[in-house]
Amino acid sequence: VRANLAPLVIAGLQPGGQMTITTDVENYPGFADPVQGPWLMQQMQQQAENLGVKVAQDLVTAVDFTTPPFAITCDSGATHTAQSIIIATGAVARWLGLESETRFQGKGVSACATCDGFFYRGKKVAVIGGGNTAVEEALYLANICESVTLIHRRDALRAEAVLQQRLFKTANVKIMWDHVAAEILGDPKGVTGLQVKSTTTGKTETLDVAGVFVAIGHDPATQVFRNAIALDKDGYIITKNKNNGGDKGVYPATQTSISGVFAAGDCVDKIYRQAVTAAGMGCIAALDAEKYLASI
Ligand code: NAP
Repeated sequence: VRANLAPLVIAGLQPGGQMTITTDVENYPGFADPVQGPWLMQQMQQQAENLGVKVAQDLVTAVDFTTPPFAITCDSGATHTAQSIIIATGAVARWLGLESETRFQGKGVSACATCDGFFYRGKKVAVIGGGNTAVEEALYLANICESVTLIHRRDALRAEAVLQQRLFKTANVKIMWDHVAAEILGDPKGVTGLQVKSTTTGKTETLDVAGVFVAIGHDPATQVFRNAIALDKDGYIITKNKNNGGDKGVYPATQTSISGVFAAGDCVDKIYRQAVTAAGMGCIAALDAEKYLASI
């Protein structure tokens, strides 16, 4: 809008995305004190609308990116055309599916150690998973927390060897092999423990932890683009300047396999996954789209 264009935001099923299921946010720049995730998202929407951005409460169900203008069909039956598109549909964390996990979300259960780890400084926590994310989260938490127990359902980690070595060398990290989370325990104030079950003996035991970090992967919300643009093997959008397939340092950084279609945020990025990195990438995509529109 500030570039004298007429953008339409199609907000999706959960406007504000992952930030709306988080509580205190204290690592987004510009706020001296922690802010609430849903409040921050409302402010972002209001800021855009105050500038004149139109927001449609709708869900994209089909796209046609074969030739510009690109066509979008929505759940309401509305159709839109655009000379340029920015995809910023995000990703959702995978959860274990326990009822207690949902009950304690934001009260001791988290899917992001960088976001929430600081709230557990000096405390005992558990991390569930065996991939790069789980190991990175365990290492990050080990610096802040009294101790970290990594719970993995098998007897070998999926994470890269270098991360595994670092984990094995960290004194306050314990690994429970062949275990799964059975129940998250707590009181109205939050999590007080985690019941785990051995996959080999069936025996259960309770760990005294104040936080449970679920790190079993994310699903990028890109299904609707599957046949329209290039995705990597995990479903993340491939852009020109990214580390999951494209060349590094190529302009325009956020361009997808289709000229004029750009992508930003967690639907592209499986590594950093922060509100501030997603917002920064969104800005890059907006500048890329503006330059593209000026060039056609
Ligand atoms: P991931 O590689 O898919 O690993 C998920 C882990 O969670 C696996 O160990 C899996 O166990 C376990 N798991 C899945 N469902 C489970 C369930 N229901 N209960 C218990 N455990 C379950 O996911 P990720 O670690 O988030 O990584 C995703 C992608 O991002 C990967 O390509 C990764 O390399 C990349 N990544 C890279 C970096 C980096 O380069 N620094 C950092 C983060 C992520 P199994 O092993 O038994 O399947």
